[in-house]
Amino acid sequence: MDKKTKKQRSENMRRIRSTDSLPEMIVRRTIYKLGYRYRLHNNKMPGRPDIMLAKLNKIIFVNGCFWHCHKKCSDGHIPKSRLAYWKPKLERNVKRDIRNRSLLRNLGWKILVVWECETKDLNRLTKKVSRFLKN
Ligand SMILES: [Zn+2]
Repeated sequence: MDKKTKKQRSENMRRIRSTDSLPEMIVRRTIYKLGYRYRLHNNKMPGRPDIMLAKLNKIIFVNGCFWHCHKKCSDGHIPKSRLAYWKPKLERNVKRDIRNRSLLRNLGWKILVVWECETKDLNRLTKKVSRFLKN
């Protein structure tokens, strides 16, 4: 018997969708294939890291190019049509990212940021991730 109410279930669905994005799934699969095991979305850590490899002291963030303002990326620009709306929102995201990364570094974690656009080239992605995890 499924004891969850309809409301709870749709809440779960929403949460799953918002955290398990396609780029993130691609990065996870890449890490898994390389033979590493990881933990997901640790709420106790600053920035709630997407992927955490505790034994290696390493963390991987998978950032959406738009939401995290990927520089020099066609998806990372603030829409000019609604600049007043987006600019403060996105700048806040960037500041939060910087703060969280520095908190984590101070706690001794090594951090890799994988951008959404980088998940489109699997060979390059695998090289990048493997280089980070090996060293
Ligand atoms: Zn990008």
